[in-house]
Amino acid sequence: MAENCIFCKLASRQIPVQSVYEDEEFLAFHDMNPQAPVHVLVIPKAHFASLLEVTDTDLMGRGLEAVKQTAKALGLTAEGFRIVVNTGENGGQTVSHLHFHLLGGRFMQWPPG
Ligand code: AMP
Ligand code: ZN
Repeated sequence: MAENCIFCKLASRQIPVQSVYEDEEFLAFHDMNPQAPVHVLVIPKAHFASLLEVTDTDLMGRGLEAVKQTAKALGLTAEGFRIVVNTGENGGQTVSHLHFHLLGGRFMQWPPG
């Protein structure tokens, strides 16, 4: 657990959070500033500052599986969804704890409007 990391605090329930999906390794919860009708964050409970810190490629595979399970739980699989992993400054990453954005509920324009 990294000190002063908001997502570590959510993952450890130091700060209460309502989960959308949870397993041993991942936790999914609603983004507090949604950019789509459905906007959920899926995070590993372990701290990685970004994708660049992950050396276990299997963890990313399990993360995508957790995203898929979250999408299923939210009923997004019929209409589809987008997954975004902002990484570093130019990627617009503002929270330094790896997270998958799961966006759905409308057509996801690309590039984003
Ligand atoms: P990023 O810009 O990719 O680092 O995304 C960080 C996301 O975390 C943003 O969409 C924020 O709205 C969201 N966020 C930050 N703090 C919280 C929180 N305590 N609960 C839910 N979402 C959060
Ligand atoms: Zn963290």
